[in-house]
Parts: sequence; C-alpha cells; structure tokens
Amino acid sequence: MITIFTYNKLSLTDVSCYFQLEYLNSQSDKPVSVSDKVLFLMLKTDKKEGEISPEDVYPIATRGVVEKIDGEWALVHTTSRVNLDSIQNDGEHFQVQLRTRPEINDIDSEEQQQRFQKMRADLLETLEGTQWLMNARSNIMQWHNLNELITFTSSLLQISNEEKFTILAEDSVSARTEKMEKAFYESLALFKVNVEAQTAQQQSNEQIYREQAIRRQISFLQDELDKLHPENITDIEKFEQKIRDSGMNDTARAEAEKVLNRMKQEGKEGHEYGMLYDYLDFVTSLVWKKEPPAPINLNTARTILDEDHFGLKKTKGRILQQIAVMALNKKQSGSILLFVGAPGTGKTSIGQSIARALGRKYVRVSLGGVRDEAEIRGHRRTYIGAMPGRIMDGIRRSGASNPVVVLDEVDKLVRDYGGDPSSALLEVLDPEQNSTFTDHYMNVPYDLSDVLFVCTANTTDTIPEPLLNRMEVISFPGYSALEKFQIAKKHLLPKAMEKAGITEDNLVVGDDTLRAVISDYTMEAGVRGLKSRLNTLCRAAAVKIVSGEEETVAIKPEDLRSLLETAPIRHDHILEVKNPGIVTGLAWTQAGGEILFIETLFTKGNGRITITGQLGDVMKESVQIAVSLVKSMFPDKAELFEQNDLHIHVPAGAVPKDGPSAGITLTTALASLVTGTAVSPEIAMTGEVSLRGMVMPIGGLPEKLMAAQRTGVQKVFIPEENMDDLAEVAEEVRQAIQIIPMHRVSDVLERAGILQPVSAVA
Ligand code: ADP
Repeated sequence: MITIFTYNKLSLTDVSCYFQLEYLNSQSDKPVSVSDKVLFLMLKTDKKEGEISPEDVYPIATRGVVEKIDGEWALVHTTSRVNLDSIQNDGEHFQVQLRTRPEINDIDSEEQQQRFQKMRADLLETLEGTQWLMNARSNIMQWHNLNELITFTSSLLQISNEEKFTILAEDSVSARTEKMEKAFYESLALFKVNVEAQTAQQQSNEQIYREQAIRRQISFLQDELDKLHPENITDIEKFEQKIRDSGMNDTARAEAEKVLNRMKQEGKEGHEYGMLYDYLDFVTSLVWKKEPPAPINLNTARTILDEDHFGLKKTKGRILQQIAVMALNKKQSGSILLFVGAPGTGKTSIGQSIARALGRKYVRVSLGGVRDEAEIRGHRRTYIGAMPGRIMDGIRRSGASNPVVVLDEVDKLVRDYGGDPSSALLEVLDPEQNSTFTDHYMNVPYDLSDVLFVCTANTTDTIPEPLLNRMEVISFPGYSALEKFQIAKKHLLPKAMEKAGITEDNLVVGDDTLRAVISDYTMEAGVRGLKSRLNTLCRAAAVKIVSGEEETVAIKPEDLRSLLETAPIRHDHILEVKNPGIVTGLAWTQAGGEILFIETLFTKGNGRITITGQLGDVMKESVQIAVSLVKSMFPDKAELFEQNDLHIHVPAGAVPKDGPSAGITLTTALASLVTGTAVSPEIAMTGEVSLRGMVMPIGGLPEKLMAAQRTGVQKVFIPEENMDDLAEVAEEVRQAIQIIPMHRVSDVLERAGILQPVSAVA
C-alpha cells in the first residue's frame, strides 16, 4: 500500500519534510503510520487534485517513507526516484507500476556539501531584511543538503514546472547539481531585483510622507509664530497682496504665483528663498498698468525746453515736431532720436527736459562698455546672482510704464563672446517687437511700446548699421565761446550757486571772469568742464563767506588760478613764424575740434618716406596721393623725392578715421616744401583730395571751424561741397574767420601763395 500525493513542487530524494497528519490521512484510505510508503507525483500544470488524469503528471516521481509521527505531524523522508512505467486512474485510485531510477553518483560528497553551504549563505544574504527571512531562518538552518534547499525553495524560486522536471529527471548527480545551481542563482538574481525595486518604491513613499508631515508641522509652527508676532506678516502674504494689486498680465501673474509657491515650499531657511524673494520684489515693483497719455501743450513744452537749455535751436525744433506728432497720433512714443556729439554738449540733459516737457518720468540707462547681451536682456534665473538687464532695471527705477528713457553712449556697446548687445538693443527699440520684450531674468514679456527712447553717442562710427538705421541722428556740434558764455551765465553759474547755497548778494562773477574761465581753464566742445570749474568757484566762495573772511566775494580773472588751484591751459595757438613745409590743418576729435600742424622735411637720402604720429594706414594712403599730386603739379621738382628721404610728422590727437581730411593740408605742406614757399600760419585748411586734384568733402566742419576761431586762425579753406554745413556753425564763428570754399587743389595752392594764379602767369 502506498499513499500517493500529487504535487506541483519539486520533490528530490534525501529530503526530510514534516506534513500535517490530517493532510496525509485525507489522501490515504487508512490512517498513516510509521514506515508507510509515500509517492510524490509531480503535476505538469497547477490543477486541482480531484480532476487529475494520468496525462497531467510527469513520468518520474519520488518515493518516500513515513519516518516518524510527532503529534499532529508526520515526518516523511524521500529515498529514491522512480519511473512511472504505467499509470491509471480508475476514478478513485491511481494504479501505478514503478521502477527505481539509477542514481549516478559522480560528485564528491564534500564538494556537494560546500556548494550547498555557499548557496545557503547566498540565500540568507539575499533575504536579509525581508519579512520572509524572519519566519524562515530557523528552518533554513535545519536543511542538510542541496536537495532540501532546492525542494523547499522551489515554490519561492521562479522555476517553471518543466525546469523542475528536467532537474528531477537528471540521473547524474553532478549534472543535476549544476542545473539546480543555475536555476537557483537565476531566480535569486530576479528576486534581488524585485526586492530592490520594492525597497526603492517604499523609500520614496516614505520620503513623501515624511516631507508632507514636516510641511504640515512647519506651517503649523509658522502660524503659531505669526500669532505671536503679527508685525512679521510674512513675505508670502506681502507678495500675494502685491501680485493682486500689480495689474500684471496673465503670463506674468502665473509666473509670479509659481515663484511664490516655490517660496512657500522653500521656507525662510531655504537656500533659494533670497533669490525667489528678489524676483518677486522686482516684478511686483514694476508698473504693469498702462498709463493714459498726458495731455500735451506744445507751448508749455517749448517753454520748458527753452528754460532748461540755451541755444540748440534745431534740436529743440525737431523735438517739438516729435511731440506734436505724438499728440496727433495719440501715442506715447515715436521715432527714436539719436543725439550725437562731444561730451557735455547737453545730449543727456535735453533727454531729461523732454520728459519734463511731456510730464513723464525720466530715467537714464548707461550702455557704455556693455559687452554682454545679458546686460541688456538679463541673466537667466538659473544661477545665484542672476539679475535683470539694464533696460528693465531702468524701467523699474523710473516707477512708470511710460517713462522717457535716455540710452546713454550707444556707441560704446562692445560686441564680445557674450553675444551681441546691439542686437538685443534692436529688439528693445523695434516697435514691432517691443510690446512683448522678454527679459531673461523676468522670463515673461513686458510691454515697452509706451516708453519713449532717446539715445546718445559721441560718434556714429562705431554704431552697427542696423541699429543706426532705426534712429534719427541729430548732431550736437558743440558750443562756441560765445554760446558757452551765455550757457555759463544763464544756466551753469546760477545752478552752481544754488547748489552751494550762495545768493547773488554773496557772490559776484563778472563777465570777463566767465570769459576767462571759458578760454583759459577749459578746452572742450561741451560745457562739462566749465560746469565743474564754476562749481569749484562757488565752493571756494562758500568757504570765504562762511568763515567770515568776506561777506560778498567778487571773483576777478586774476583770482582764478588760485581758486581753481590749477594753471591756465596752454592752447595750441597758430605758429608765429612761417616755414616752408609746415601747414596748419584742422582735425575732428571726440572732444571737439583741434588744429594741427603738418610738418614735412627733406633729408639726404634716396626716396624713403617716413611718417610719424598717430594716423597710421589711412595717413599712408593720403601721403601717397599727396606725393603723386605734387610730383605731377611740379614736374621739375619731382626728382627731389628721389634724391632725398621725406619725413612727414602728423601730431597725435586726431582720430585715425579723420586721416583723409588732412589730404589737402599734406599736399599743401609738400608743395610748400618742394617750392620753398612758406604758407601763412594764419591759414588753416581741411579737405580730402583726389588724384585728379579735386578737393573732396569732409565731416565735423562746425567743430573744426570752432577750433580755428579759438586758436587765432584768420582764413580757412574748406571743400566747396561742405558749404551747406555752415548752417550748423555759430554766427560769431562765421563772422570771426574768413571761410573760403575750394574746388581744386590748384585753387588752394594759389590762395596759399605757392602757385602763381593762372591769369598772372598768362
Ligand atoms: P552730454 O550728455 O552731451 O555729455 P550733458 O547733458 O550731461 O552732456 O550736459 C552736461 C551739463 O551741461 C549738464 O548739466 C547740462 O545741463 C549742461 N548743458 C549742456 N548744454 C547746455 C545748454 N545748451 N544750456 C544749458 N545747459 C547746458
């Protein structure tokens, strides 16, 4: 009699296993007792026991014997594997014919034991920390051999029934061991991955729960703190209110609320709190609401412009036109004016007057030396220290959404590795794009279309073409001595006195003193130096008044040296003696005009030409043209250039680009040299020359003529084509010097006394 169990576990030989007696009895016809035989049939599929047919079981089974009955438990020990030669199920019982399978014992039992020990250790290590191990550790420690390990873990390990059967069917112990090891380690690896994934999930859940709990705690504590200190109404509430009141557009509000939420989560101690605070502080202090255009009264505007600035008639006229157009269009912005001129000529301050005339806020944004696009467009908020760009910062400072913004020194933008700041500026100034100008720091668009932009520059040479095309250039040629006198008397001195707290009763500065300050202590096209000299005088006077030294201070020209604590400026003045080869020229610089002396000299040699001074390559070309022209005009003197070395000296000072305008001066100096005819130092000239001997137009004429007048020049030869520019030149300058238009080089040489007039020769 044998009790048969069907089983979907692997049952190997030499395995001792406790079964519930009740369970064994339910499978058997009579109660099970010690020494009863038992057969374990392995199921192909996980079927219920009652429905099992012979096809459902594998043809190899394991035979065992009941070794011990211990209360409710029976210990069964498996002894051998058997072939099921035939198997029948009569509905109630299985009829089986068994044949013991051979066991090929081809492995050293000690090695087998070692492998078992290692597998058990690996199993324990893998299960460490799992619920499973807590219950099973003592059982695992009772296993004696590999078969027990595999049998008991087979349901836990992910091995298919088919695999289990191939293990059972293997007669070679060594091959079977290998199969068991392979199956064991594969499922162990799988098990490990599952456990890891579960643990990770569990950890992340735990972290979320923990964070939520901490947050609730913080918010509870914060509420308690707020109750204790109502004066500390949180930044959060402050910004909530500010965002509500700001009138932001929807995008800006969404961004601000996002940042506010992050700020809530960060908490005051969070390392990003400060950055988030700065952002909200910035965006909420911008004015987002549109301001309606203020009514414009052209007469008031005119009066205000005249009040603030002396002269500048043309500029003021152009500004009034702009204001009128804006009034008609009902717009708050219009063409972008670019004021170009030397420092101190009033470019920035007239921008301020425009704001006053329009009744709008004013702000100045300096662009000098900006080399990084981010300085215009802002830094992205991805790093600590990120800031808004200068434009948006200026708008914030103005406290309005429609200020007059003076963009100072647009010619000093530098293109660099940090991108092209001028292209960012173009976007700011483009009416098509600037209604949605997006500063990288803000990360949301802001409408700049109501902002009136005015730009200033010292020169247009360095302004990129696309930017220049967007603006309307208005030049500020600088002031004549007479204009400076008026500016000083009507504007600068009264302001300087007011600043120093001095009244007219305390200080007398005579006209002659003012003139002396202008002529002897300043050398500039504008009035910045003059302004600072007058401030110095007022401060010096204040000391005398306060110390009781004098009640009314009268400043005379002879006092200036000690009060200003500086020696009078030694102006370049025209030379006193005439020398062949030296001619007076006129140059343009960023600080206004200057005179210069072009000096030429032959020394013994063989035709080498040396040029010294600053003008470089452009000058070299002018020299070539001048030499060729003089050779062709004075053929009998041409050999002088072969027999001698020629040295030309052009003093430093003029800007390199101004080189060609010295062409006529160079040619005249060479003609004077070869003919030995000295040219009067009271004659100065400016003009480019062509190889055909024509005098070509030049730039910067007003500045050059002012320099001529200042330095005592009597006659100036200018290109005929520049005659229109005289409209820009102050009346008293035109009165003081004789201005003679020239068409050909030969005209200049005749007038300078080098060439005989054609009519005289004839
Ligand atoms: P810029 O911008 O051209 O360098 P500013 O506008 O700063 O020059 O002018 C320098 C100073 O000279 C300012 O205080 C300005 O008021 C004064 N100023 C310049 N031109 C005039 C003028 N035509 N009338 C009155 N003040 C002037």
